[in-house]
Amino acid sequence: MQIEAAVARKKFGPLNFETLDLEEPRHNEVRVRLAASGVCHTDMAIRDQKIVPMPQPIVLGHEGAGIVEKVGASVVKVKVGDRVILSGDSCGNCPSCQISLPSYCYEFFQRNFGGGRADGTSPLSVNGEKVHTFMGQGSFATHVVCHDRNVIAVAKDAPLELLGPLGCGVITGAGAVINSLKVGVGKSIAIFGTGSVGLSGVMAAKLVGAGKIIAIDLRDDRLKLAMELGATHTIDPSKESIPEAIKKITGNGVDFTLETTALMPVLRQAIDVLALRGTCGFVGGAPEGSELTFVASHVMNGGRTIRGIILGDTNPEEFLPKLIELHALGRFPLEKLVTFYPFKDINRAIEESLNGKCVKPIVRF
Ligand SMILES: [Zn+2]
Ligand SMILES: [Zn+2]
Repeated sequence: MQIEAAVARKKFGPLNFETLDLEEPRHNEVRVRLAASGVCHTDMAIRDQKIVPMPQPIVLGHEGAGIVEKVGASVVKVKVGDRVILSGDSCGNCPSCQISLPSYCYEFFQRNFGGGRADGTSPLSVNGEKVHTFMGQGSFATHVVCHDRNVIAVAKDAPLELLGPLGCGVITGAGAVINSLKVGVGKSIAIFGTGSVGLSGVMAAKLVGAGKIIAIDLRDDRLKLAMELGATHTIDPSKESIPEAIKKITGNGVDFTLETTALMPVLRQAIDVLALRGTCGFVGGAPEGSELTFVASHVMNGGRTIRGIILGDTNPEEFLPKLIELHALGRFPLEKLVTFYPFKDINRAIEESLNGKCVKPIVRF
């Protein structure tokens, strides 16, 4: 069938609207008609080849949500008409997949950053030219064909258009706080960067009953939003020194830090401000080969931990329905992060995300 897609053909350039050919789903694949897709900083970083070089032309987008339109012969987890969120692809068989941690799938890189299926093919083409996909989906398009492990079924009454970002940005921040760092009641946490990942972390820290929740960013409006979502303190590093401000707030350093900016000097600070036995989790997509330095004695003598985290250590099948329920109860106000755009305005959505005008753009089809 033919679909409409926003195709990336060059670095830093706008996405190009094109009509593409989409293959029929294979036996273990599904076709999803998208209702909406989140736009994530990783999409832009991949377009501009800042993280890893991925082949172009490519349909980016990895926070899709939609309705299952067709399923392959061996698919049993969803059926036609099911409402689904799209997340990353995984193999289902490796040691990580076997313990329900698909974001550490042994084939994660190849399946999500390889530009197509695990076997190197892509379901997309235009006039015989191969068009690549991202994260096993490519959700900047009216339809995707993806592996059945990409999709997570949600309830019939779930607010589909709002939920695409749960597949990446939101579970990255919320999962890091809840699953990876396991922030406990009354513990302090400092969150570096208040984009959608950082603010999801703030909401999660409030949910788990963290004590001091410190949001750090250069933007005043973001810090205000962080306070609204549960932060108890904010730091604007253009106005005060982060280590001094954290010392003033916590006395002995902070129990947990969550670093979302992917800037190595900021990550270094997130390690330096840890209290004894504190843990720093970091989640940003830094350019391949980025190196971090830290003071070994500070980490070792203090029993401190530095922890890399992908997609919040979540089993999306289990974690997403919980977040959706918390959202329905008003305890995870995801809608406060979101600005909707029509699909035709995707380039404006990207621009306004890059210049910080919006936190989490979602395009609707
Ligand atoms: Zn696997
Ligand atoms: Zn993302």
